[in-house]
Amino acid sequence: MTYVITEACADSKDAACWEACPADAIHPGPQEASFREHAQLYIDPAACIDCSACEPVCPVEAIYPEEDVPEASQDSIAANRDFFATRTA
Ligand code: SF4
Repeated sequence: MTYVITEACADSKDAACWEACPADAIHPGPQEASFREHAQLYIDPAACIDCSACEPVCPVEAIYPEEDVPEASQDSIAANRDFFATRTA
């Protein structure tokens, strides 16, 4: 199981989740060169330790446990996974 950032993040890109994550599982962070290139932040399913620290700090409620992702946002599960499949840095 992992947590997933849905497309609602794109309205905000607040990055409070990035600050809260103890596992460095959320990218791109505001310190990363590619932060402005991407519409939202994503969670690396291979790095997430399922601690839930990110979920309550998101100001737009964009983060869900994978099994609770709303039907309309199911594409976000693959979007998070695929972001890290192609990421080089
Ligand atoms: Fe990071 Fe925990 Fe959120 Fe996973 S659940 S992305 S480890 S803060």
